[in-house]
Amino acid sequence: MTEEFTTTVYHDEDADVSLIEDETIAVLGYGSQGHAHALNLKDSGMDVVVGLREDSSSREAAEAEGLRVETPDVAAAEADRVVMLVPDTVQPAVYEAIEDGLEAGDTLQFAHGFNIHYGQIRPSEDVDVTMSAPKSPGHLVRRTYERGEGTPGLIAIYQDATGSAKEESLAYSKAIGCTRAGVIETTFQEEVETDLFGEQAVLCGGVTEMVKAGFETLVDAGYAPEMAYFECLNELKLIVDLMYEGGHMGMWNSVSDTAEYGGLTRGEEVINREGMDKLLEEVQNGEFAREWISENQAHRPAYKQYRDAEQNHQIEEVGARLRELFSWSEDAEQETQEAPADD
Ligand code: NDP
Ligand code: MG
Repeated sequence: MTEEFTTTVYHDEDADVSLIEDETIAVLGYGSQGHAHALNLKDSGMDVVVGLREDSSSREAAEAEGLRVETPDVAAAEADRVVMLVPDTVQPAVYEAIEDGLEAGDTLQFAHGFNIHYGQIRPSEDVDVTMSAPKSPGHLVRRTYERGEGTPGLIAIYQDATGSAKEESLAYSKAIGCTRAGVIETTFQEEVETDLFGEQAVLCGGVTEMVKAGFETLVDAGYAPEMAYFECLNELKLIVDLMYEGGHMGMWNSVSDTAEYGGLTRGEEVINREGMDKLLEEVQNGEFAREWISENQAHRPAYKQYRDAEQNHQIEEVGARLRELFSWSEDAEQETQEAPADD
């Protein structure tokens, strides 16, 4: 028996784009998310203005697509909906510059809840504060939209001054293509805490530490670094692809019985659940957020050190050398594509 979703999943038929078609929408930032939102909104018939600083390196790209560009304060002043798609660390400063442009009944919208949840941005009570967040990098948000598809997304309502915040968030999610795939409602708190936990414990932090530890264990025991690289890093992609397509069972069914038995009986040995609990607690009680905010205020001294150490790890040098060896496959592909027709 298949289980029901515990959350509602919203699709195109649950959303009405006409609710926001009279709005002027200011998209602040034209990076990963910003370019995708702005272009999808425009193609969905919305009135879009992009907000970028005077000397912005993104200005030319936005204007080349026929988008109108103003500085963030000007864009926000004329907009009914202001979408914060500049990096999270610069959002508080950008908010200060646009705050006066938010009138009663306007919407301040995010794609990630960090600054609202941890109190770095405190909007006045008469504006809607919402989230419409594709669960995907921007280039996929754009590419899937152009193909008539979409990426899954989230909506969340932090403040509903108008009484229509949720319907309008769904309308926006439809205009950027997310309801084609499915949109789930969450809260700012849940989105932030699960996002930070996931990227720290599993996706970015957990995986890289596990790969490095495995690599080091083999190299320290005298095995060839090249072998360690293939076993601990390169093959990870094959396993993750199987998990992505068919869940854990899809993966277990595709590997050998020996790999399956060894993995099922031994994997747990290397997982530190207490460490995960501690990390989740630091996300929940704001300790991580405070650390990251003051790290930024101090111009990132620790961040730079950690990056340097990562860059200088042996696995980077070995990997760069090995990837060079099999880059022939990508080169060949490109040559085929770029070959002139009369050749
Ligand atoms: P990017 O780093 O891609 O944003 C870069 C854009 O912001 C550029 O246009 C840049 O223009 C502009 N910008 C940078 N600094 C400033 C500033 N001080 N003032 C004005 N504009 C500035 O951001 P993302 O798209 O990655 O993230 C945007 C939001 O979306 C974040 O809240 C993030 O958490 C969220 N999100 C991101 C996802 C992703 O896949 N990247 C996925 C889901 C959510 P300039 O040329 O002027 O520097
Ligand atoms: Mg994230």
